[in-house]
Amino acid sequence: MSPAMSSATISGRAETREELSRSTYDLLVIGGGILGTSVTWMAAQAGLRVAMVDAGDFAGATSSASSKLVHGGLRYLQTGNVKLVAENHRERRALAGEIAPHLVKPLTFVVPVYRGGPHGAAKLGAGVFLYSALSVFGDGLGRVISPQQALAKVPALRGEGLRAAAVYGDHQMNDSRVAVMTVRAAVDAGAVVLNHAEVVGLRKSGPSGTGTVSGADLRDRLDGTEFGVNARLVLNATGPWVDHLRRMEDPGAAPSIRLSKGAHLVMRRHEPWKAALTIPIDKYRVSFAIPWEDHLLLGTTDEAYEGDPADVRATDADLSQILDEAGHGVRDTQLRREDITYAFAGLRVLPGGPGGVSSAKRETVLTRGAGGMLSVAGGKWTTYRHIGKVVLDALAHLPGRPLGDDLADILPAVPLPGLASPEAVALRLWTDREPGTRMDPLVARHLASHYGSIAFDLARLIRDEPSLGERIHPDGPDIWAQAVYARDREWAVTADDVLRRRTTLTVRGLDTPEVRARVQSLLATG
Ligand SMILES: Cc1cc2nc3c(=O)[nH]c(=O)nc-3n(C[C@H](O)[C@H](O)[C@H](O)COP(=O)(O)OP(=O)(O)OC[C@H]3O[C@@H](n4cnc5c(N)ncnc54)[C@H](O)[C@@H]3O)c2cc1C
Repeated sequence: MSPAMSSATISGRAETREELSRSTYDLLVIGGGILGTSVTWMAAQAGLRVAMVDAGDFAGATSSASSKLVHGGLRYLQTGNVKLVAENHRERRALAGEIAPHLVKPLTFVVPVYRGGPHGAAKLGAGVFLYSALSVFGDGLGRVISPQQALAKVPALRGEGLRAAAVYGDHQMNDSRVAVMTVRAAVDAGAVVLNHAEVVGLRKSGPSGTGTVSGADLRDRLDGTEFGVNARLVLNATGPWVDHLRRMEDPGAAPSIRLSKGAHLVMRRHEPWKAALTIPIDKYRVSFAIPWEDHLLLGTTDEAYEGDPADVRATDADLSQILDEAGHGVRDTQLRREDITYAFAGLRVLPGGPGGVSSAKRETVLTRGAGGMLSVAGGKWTTYRHIGKVVLDALAHLPGRPLGDDLADILPAVPLPGLASPEAVALRLWTDREPGTRMDPLVARHLASHYGSIAFDLARLIRDEPSLGERIHPDGPDIWAQAVYARDREWAVTADDVLRRRTTLTVRGLDTPEVRARVQSLLATG
């Protein structure tokens, strides 16, 4: 099995469980969201023997429920967090420039200024200027434009009462695909990973089993198999579940975080959008309307959440709030409920403490428990490499069990798999075949911008089996080769893994019972 080969098949999963049970790892990472994956990737690059497990799918929780922005966070200038914005910008530019230019795309943002709105044009103009200055004007100059110029970029922008608009540059991505590519990078670097494998207890060394955390007991959620992993160090990167795992380590552990729910919805788009909208709702909150996957992504809400993280859902009240708030800046004709194709919700992890959730700082929470387990949660998708390095450094210096000095410092900036120009890949996918048998240019562009040069592996699958070039649903660009590739090379084992996170069928509303049944039967033949 090549390092990047999947463990998705039943026998592959059994082999991976066996491999996980057999060795003692330097590091076990619990949680395969973007933070766990980042630390796994870096630790494996540093030469450590690393295992990573997730109770569900990789990036199946918060990391596929974000606003898909790789951004500095204009809003944080409101709370005076200039250092955080500069740090976010640095990581944003690294991701878009060296690490994943094939997956992270530039996007212009327009902030409309309405008569009676929460911010005036002069203040917003100064804000976007400072924002662009903090990224050394790498994405142009943040500035104020006229209503006509704003409407030319976003024809669906509400025109009544529009006084001016501010513009600035950021980036966007398909979060679940970038996460899967990062898992692949970690596996290429030598990590062993398994999804749908839940940690049900922690192993502890010492006579009464109350000492140092030295591994975990797991249950395979697909077939119920129980197994265990031993490790010198254990990292808890379970996002909204972080305190649940901390209580496995120490039943008396005090809460370290609080949660805030953020819901989004995806809608069919009726006009081209050359830019996204950042719509100020009040002094602190903004609502985004973002062109994404040929659709419009709207959100998000920000509301304290105290239920079971597994139950988080976008409710009907969330949809009404999102449409209402989008309506501050988007015309009604683009906000019809019948155009909603998908809705989802995720949980922000915020440092514990008093105050409202929407003004709380988006900081990373790093704690060390009584059994020596390190726990990390919070922060931003955008800064995942930075957070990964901080955590790796903390692991390397844990008292009593050092892994080595300054591991993070020796790591080069390694690009994600498939690094290539999406335009060049799309052109070659199209021209590689004879006229008459050519790939649909829309499909070629879709593959190039979601896989980079790995799209050529998909093209080879199609060459061997031409029916794999057919669309999974006639209304979307995803093709059967992607489902096969997801099964064989990207750890997809359930229909949702394929439809929601490896392809874009669910977000486009194309996840029909027939499509689901065909994907399920494809997975069963793996
Ligand atoms: C609404 C919203 C919008 C956001 N928008 C942006 C944005 O646009 N840009 C940006 O930069 N950031 C954004 N963020 C922040 C970003 O999404 C998060 O910081 C990031 O995804 C957190 O990743 P994580 O790995 O810590 O958590 P998660 O992705 O939640 O991963 C935790 C994993 O742990 C697993 N797990 C839990 N319990 C167990 C167990 N017992 N055994 C094994 N595994 C377990 C879960 O299955 C899960 O996959 C947003 C967040 C939210 C909520």
